[in-house]
Amino acid sequence: MGLRAAAEPRGPHDRADHPLPRGGAGAVFGSKNLKVFGVVGLNDVKVANPKGFEEAIERTYTAFREDLSHPWSLLGGFGRIGTGSGVALINDKHVFATRYHKYTSFQHANEIDGEAFMRKYETRPIGCQSCLVHCGMVRKPLETKWGTIWTRGPEYETMYSIGSLCFNDNSDMLYYANDQAEKYGMDTLSLGVNVAFAMECVDRGILSKDALGEGYTLEFGNPDATVRLIDMIAAREGIGDLLAEGVKRASEKLNQGSQDFALQVKGMEFAAWMPERMRGVATTFATANRGACHKRAPIGMELMEFVPMDSTEGRAELVAQIQNVVNATFTLVSCRFAEFVLKPAQFVDLLNNASGMSFTAEQFELMGEAIWNMERMYNLAAGIDASQDSLPEICFKVPLDFPEGYKPLTHSDFNILIKDYYEYRGWDASGTPTPERLEKLGLKG
Ligand code: SF4
Repeated sequence: MGLRAAAEPRGPHDRADHPLPRGGAGAVFGSKNLKVFGVVGLNDVKVANPKGFEEAIERTYTAFREDLSHPWSLLGGFGRIGTGSGVALINDKHVFATRYHKYTSFQHANEIDGEAFMRKYETRPIGCQSCLVHCGMVRKPLETKWGTIWTRGPEYETMYSIGSLCFNDNSDMLYYANDQAEKYGMDTLSLGVNVAFAMECVDRGILSKDALGEGYTLEFGNPDATVRLIDMIAAREGIGDLLAEGVKRASEKLNQGSQDFALQVKGMEFAAWMPERMRGVATTFATANRGACHKRAPIGMELMEFVPMDSTEGRAELVAQIQNVVNATFTLVSCRFAEFVLKPAQFVDLLNNASGMSFTAEQFELMGEAIWNMERMYNLAAGIDASQDSLPEICFKVPLDFPEGYKPLTHSDFNILIKDYYEYRGWDASGTPTPERLEKLGLKG
């Protein structure tokens, strides 16, 4: 594993804690001057019950084969087209954040979605080892006006962050920008939000449209400006130096009301979902221990409207349960998408046969809850308290094309969501886990 350019400290004015690699692992590497490390296994991996483990694997494959055989399978779509396969649906449902949350759908989405990439570029699916889904898409090398590229992706979240959020409908540019981020080692999600934030600052008169230098206009929908700004962020050149800090710090430095529209929670930039539209997403973005992350949100439930997306009813329970289960599955170093197919009992089947332990599904979920609470206690000790279980003001503005028949997010709804969430978690009104709950989770003392 190696550190890419963007996370390296360079020069006296550089901060080692470059926040753009989402979650900050690269920033930690950079701060320690750690450039590269490798891990080599010299022995076979032994499992407690080899025969039982083999059978558990077969049961897992069977579950995946069954899911993938259906035309409606989400993972099947990922395997054919990539994670961008759902853009049309997401756009139709008005949850595709566009032009910095001004709109809920993008009229040019079909120029940058998974189908568009399949149509325009020669593509081959690739997968992680042993996975039946193979959701990665490798495209043929491509000549663009900015240079030749050959890369994997872009993923769904990039189609949002550097695509719709920046009002970009140029797929060549999206493909090229994805390659820039790969080379620099920057996460495209946080990167795109930073680029869009700069464009929004120009719209609001906080930054100059000439901030990119001669020949460029910093504005929404400008592919040249996007490519140029990404280079500047990686090199910490001009306003790139400010944006390399992430939108939280950039907005604190710019001030002028920009914190109200900085798309971040606890320093992490928004993933591709709209709290304005989805109450579960609002709850997850606000309460996630690492900020506005979508990894533990009830997105499918709300997107498919198995639960009304604009209702506060039952949302605390739904969010907390997903947070717990995903936390537990992540301890197995499992792909997030596995949880779309496997129930906790099936993860436990693998875990018990591999380890010789005897978890029940309930204990497994309780372990996820214990991890969540430990992270919460860590955050509280680090000064990240309930005041940061919040959303920027922009989430309480109504997008121009907000669909009829739905309720936009209000402060009063949001207060209910947080209050319900604390109660369901067994936390007090200040968002602190109660001694009773910690004891139940085996965390007291
Ligand atoms: S393990 Fe996950 S990310 Fe990798 S190919 Fe399979 S579904 Fe995609």
